[in-house]
Amino acid sequence: MTTMQNHLPTENPADLEFQQVPIVSIGGGLGSFALVDRLRIGGVSTADIRVVSLHRQPEQAFADACRDSGMGPRDRLRSESSARIDNLWGFPGYAAREAHETKSPGLILRSLVEPVLARPYAPTAGLVQHAVKEETARIGWNKMTVRGMALRVQRQPDGGYVVLVRRRGNRRDLALVCDYVHLALGPFGPKLTPEAVGFRLEHPYPQRLVHAYEQHSEVYDDLAEHGGSVLVRGSGIASSRVLQRLIEDRERSGKDVHIFQLFRSYDDDGCGFTHHPYDFPKAALGGQLRDTMRRLDEDGRIELSTKLGATSTPYRTEWAAPLREARAEGWYDALAGEVQQFVALDDQVRAQIRLADKETYELDVDYVIDATGMDQRADNHPLISDMVQQGIVEVNDLGCLRVGDDFVVAGSENHSGAIFASGMNARGGPLGPVDSFLGLQSAALSIADVLADHGLGERLTPARSVRQWWKWMGRKSL
Ligand SMILES: Cc1cc2nc3c(=O)[nH]c(=O)nc-3n(C[C@H](O)[C@H](O)[C@H](O)COP(=O)(O)OP(=O)(O)OC[C@H]3O[C@@H](n4cnc5c(N)ncnc54)[C@H](O)[C@@H]3O)c2cc1C
Repeated sequence: MTTMQNHLPTENPADLEFQQVPIVSIGGGLGSFALVDRLRIGGVSTADIRVVSLHRQPEQAFADACRDSGMGPRDRLRSESSARIDNLWGFPGYAAREAHETKSPGLILRSLVEPVLARPYAPTAGLVQHAVKEETARIGWNKMTVRGMALRVQRQPDGGYVVLVRRRGNRRDLALVCDYVHLALGPFGPKLTPEAVGFRLEHPYPQRLVHAYEQHSEVYDDLAEHGGSVLVRGSGIASSRVLQRLIEDRERSGKDVHIFQLFRSYDDDGCGFTHHPYDFPKAALGGQLRDTMRRLDEDGRIELSTKLGATSTPYRTEWAAPLREARAEGWYDALAGEVQQFVALDDQVRAQIRLADKETYELDVDYVIDATGMDQRADNHPLISDMVQQGIVEVNDLGCLRVGDDFVVAGSENHSGAIFASGMNARGGPLGPVDSFLGLQSAALSIADVLADHGLGERLTPARSVRQWWKWMGRKSL
């Protein structure tokens, strides 16, 4: 214990409480949930797992992001029926559950004949969140969580790691001494481009430039009350939801709202949008594309996953039809180009745009809503940046953790201990759609196998798998 205390970043180690545990998962979101669920199914006890989390529930960060981007519990996600984060086996899928709850057997049929004879089924945000809540109760999530912020991960000289946690509602910090650390910190925050940051620093109030993944309801309220003009930057699924909200509010309020949308490049076939039902092609998870990805070196993996996961949005008639109407009536305009700078006017924002044909165009609007995605660089998290500086993890050209095929972070193996990463923090690794429900489960399966080989939990043999699935079906607590 003395060696460990000497290495901890605290003025007075006597203020620390120490706990010893084999594995600590940091984040407590859906990435932590996927791993912990798999470990519990593999027989690891709650006493052997700790989850460091700011939230009580693992679906909370996901639910917050849905809400901020304008999605209610009844809005549909971009996932298939069997991509069931609360069900390792994927069967029965979300469609079956929804069919049962809403007494609509047609949903099951639809999920069987999609995408040829029907539009692909997607679960609602509320259904996914509710199902996760049920599974957390079944696996004893509460017994494993430590509410707080992980401040530091430090390598121990004689093997393993120590995770320092600033606990919520407890004046004493906690030092979790462990063999294995799992990192699933998700995005650092909304992605703010340099021109957006520059504008916001100089003109913080009133907020004329907001991000789609931040709370920005006051923009919709103001437009619904007074009318006005708005520039939506981006063409992914978040932009589709922003447009939906603006259009619905315009219809409801009867106010004159003019919408401009800025695409980076304009796809003529989709009126600017690139349409795909999912973020990544299905084969990137388990088919040929996954095998191709595994065979590539790091540069090749980054290039292929960037290409496969390029910005797109699903085609939905409830989004396409009102936009067609808006174009015809002249209150929606699309532009293709890049913003060079935002300039504050008296009570508007001027966007200086370099158009695709290299001309500069100046657009004055009341509001800008940036739908430019999330900040995906793992090394923007102070915790990870500190670990890079200590030399216990490596990052790739995307700024994400360099992971091997088993999701062990390069450079982290320490005698019997190691660090694993999944979700957005592990982009550029062996799996393209790593930041998706199925991607998190796939990473969890690989990590759990490594741990099982080191004596923590068991591999999922067919017999164990069937037994466990039966328990899952019967909602039997583990
Ligand atoms: C609007 C939206 C819709 C989506 N729809 C789909 C879909 O339809 N299908 C699909 O497959 N995927 C979807 N996704 C992606 C899916 O939500 C992510 O793959 C998943 O949430 C990632 O889980 P995570 O645990 O890696 O990150 P998160 O769920 O973001 O959790 C990370 C957690 O780590 C915490 N944290 C960070 N630093 C620390 C620290 N130092 N100490 C303690 N805690 C820390 C954060 O506060 C956060 O709570 C969607 C995502 C969004 C935002």
